[in-house]
Amino acid sequence: MISLKNRLMLTYTFFICAAFAALFFLLNAASKKIFDNFVRDVIIEKNQEIVRAVEEQYRPLQKQFDLAALESVGMIFMHDGFIVDVEDSEGRYVWNARDMDMEHCAAVLQKISERMNAKHGKKTELQSAGFPLFYSGKIIGNVNIASAGPLFYTEAQSEFIIHLNLTLAALFFISLVVCTGFALIHAERLSRPIVRATQAARTIAACYAAANRPLPDDLPESAPAEQYKTRELAALTGAIHEMADELREAAARQKQLTGDVAHELRTPLASIQGTIEALLDGVWEAGPERLFSLLNEVKRLTQLVNDLQVLSSFESGNITLTKTEFDMAELLRDAAEQFTNAAREKGIEITSRLIPWRAAADYGRTKQVIINLLSNAVKYTAQGTITLSMEKISYTGKDALAIKITDTGPGIPDKDLPHIFERFYRAEKSRNRGTGGAGVGLTIARAICAACGWKIYAESVEGKGSVFTVVM
Ligand code: ADP
Repeated sequence: MISLKNRLMLTYTFFICAAFAALFFLLNAASKKIFDNFVRDVIIEKNQEIVRAVEEQYRPLQKQFDLAALESVGMIFMHDGFIVDVEDSEGRYVWNARDMDMEHCAAVLQKISERMNAKHGKKTELQSAGFPLFYSGKIIGNVNIASAGPLFYTEAQSEFIIHLNLTLAALFFISLVVCTGFALIHAERLSRPIVRATQAARTIAACYAAANRPLPDDLPESAPAEQYKTRELAALTGAIHEMADELREAAARQKQLTGDVAHELRTPLASIQGTIEALLDGVWEAGPERLFSLLNEVKRLTQLVNDLQVLSSFESGNITLTKTEFDMAELLRDAAEQFTNAAREKGIEITSRLIPWRAAADYGRTKQVIINLLSNAVKYTAQGTITLSMEKISYTGKDALAIKITDTGPGIPDKDLPHIFERFYRAEKSRNRGTGGAGVGLTIARAICAACGWKIYAESVEGKGSVFTVVM
């Protein structure tokens, strides 16, 4: 298959050649036409000049022409290719160039005919025209002027038209070469980014084919998209860059995920292993306290595995939502009740501002979202209040319900806020304090909201508290 560069080059060259050839032929034809008209005018003027010159040789006193003067005039015009034949008013022979020098006349005409035929491709025939001769308003005779017709070029005119054609041809070729050169450069410029983008796409494909080999930072198409002044090419290279960035991030996330899962599993497993070894070695007694601790670790593991399974089902789109109608205030009250004890133990109050709202959604999944948010609020708040509120709002032009869970906890640093819904993401402080969670609660909440077509977002002021809002 022909390359884009060659296709562009061929197309440009074809059109440039066609345009220049048309221009050349048009210019050539136009210049020839103009020149021929000019030559015709020159011949007419020459004929008039001959008539005047012959008239000047008339001697009125003798009532005849000065033959010697007529001969010298006639011979001059003969050299120029005009054969002059003069008669008096009675039609009697006065002077004739042919009679003077037949051979010379034939030679001059022959030369003109050859020049016109060989150099200009024009066939000429001898043509003659008669003009009356006047002296003081009276006819004194007649002159017949024969010359090569329909027109002929003098030596100088012939040289001029040949030079003009050569100059035009030279200009044509120089312009052709220059324009073709520019076309080649332009074709190369247009095709280069596409070739590079293709190489980049191939490199990406090769990296993924070779078991997720990481993408090199300097992909073949590493020039910034803005460098290309063509919108489409900039868009193409921009898209390749975006794709490469996305893939790099996806690869990094995947790597991170494997590491995080291993890490989250290792901690409870190590704790379980340590406890069991201590029990076996007789260091600890297998009392209810130790066994409860073991049970809790196993429950945490089970919860984590369940959470991961839920997440994986959402991410693969393998989840069915069972819609029912229920009272949202009721659901929120139920969820809050589950945390009353935990909150009381920490000295936190849970307050609610609920409004009646009939919802049509998956009850279980909705409750899971609220529980995940409430559980975080209770987990991260050391003192103060947690408020659960419902508000009727207008969202994208429709009535909507906004559920807000507001706490007076430590808040979320600005640098962490954009990431808290990401899988296994935990703000630095939460990791350090060992507050428990694996960093999937919010990810599950977001996945459920996305599946239900809801919006979930967090606002927070570090040191003051956080507000999590679900708009449905
Ligand atoms: P985790 O199980 O660690 O709580 P989540 O996905 O539920 O995981 O939350 C992710 C991170 O977001 C938490 O580790 C914590 O740093 C931050 N976070 C979530 N909710 C709150 C909150 N109410 N107050 C402060 N930080 C929070």
